[in-house]
Amino acid sequence: MNTKKNKQILVAGTMAFDEIITKSAKSGKIIGGAATYISYSSSFFTDDIYVSSIIGNDFPVSFLEEMNSKGISTRLIEVSSKDKSFYWKGEYKNDFNTRVTHVTQLNALEFYKPCLNKSSINFDLLMLGNLDPGVQMDIYSQVKNDHNFVILDTMNYWIEKTQKELFEIISKVNLVVINDEESQMLGKSDSIEECAKNILSHGPDYIIIKKGSHGAELFSKHQRSTIPALDNIKVVDPTGAGDSFAGGVCGYLALQHMINFKEIHNAMIYGTVIASFCIEEFGLARLQRISKENIDDRIKTFTKHLL
Ligand code: AMP
Repeated sequence: MNTKKNKQILVAGTMAFDEIITKSAKSGKIIGGAATYISYSSSFFTDDIYVSSIIGNDFPVSFLEEMNSKGISTRLIEVSSKDKSFYWKGEYKNDFNTRVTHVTQLNALEFYKPCLNKSSINFDLLMLGNLDPGVQMDIYSQVKNDHNFVILDTMNYWIEKTQKELFEIISKVNLVVINDEESQMLGKSDSIEECAKNILSHGPDYIIIKKGSHGAELFSKHQRSTIPALDNIKVVDPTGAGDSFAGGVCGYLALQHMINFKEIHNAMIYGTVIASFCIEEFGLARLQRISKENIDDRIKTFTKHLL
């Protein structure tokens, strides 16, 4: 187990253009992507973050500079000279309870062959954000060492298309972070507890199951804990909630001496609070305007109601 303080993070995932439609508004084309939300959220805790991803020739350099100013290194991000960036268009229905994907264009991501050996960095925390599980495995194989802690997120798109490859990478990681619907697709049961048990039987030490407005649950083989969601949040756009939750978890864990059940439980509290900011505006807009103090203030109010 890695006990080093201030762990160096590698975040892998999509960097994208998104278009989001809600009942009352349309975002237009904005910056999104799993790695973008995760790294941005982790940057409230540490400035030792690297992102592995691929962007197209249409991605704004000014945004990469913004990431750099937050302590997120973009030097492992590949730029495709001939393809566009990953593009996703989604719509929320039924008061945000249903998300329909209208378009997923892999674009540059389709040909992504990560090459991290050249970085010669010993990453302590590896955050495998939403990506093709084959690419997640490739990245894992390149940076795995005896002491790093590996977190994995995924989504229905990959569960449906590449389940075998997904279980292969799941068997290698320490912590899986998914939502309740995804856990049911993977764990093949109506009971969250059964799903957690089934997924843990593939190898991970821990699983967090996010339940939207019903909070989140953490399971290990012998322990279980729950936290509620924040109430009184005015939702504008839930996109990135899962990724910013994962980024908050990862950022918090990067500062801990030991990573164990108790610290992962505490990390869920930070993940929940950062996600609650994320959903208050379209895309990254709200996260771009808050500080760690804003997060700590909301943590104080939130934890007053927890046991
Ligand atoms: P979430 O946290 O689940 O709301 O993630 C939203 C982000 O996931 C968006 O910014 C999208 O660009 C990105 N995304 C959508 N579909 C995929 C996919 N199939 N693989 C990886 N990232 C995706």
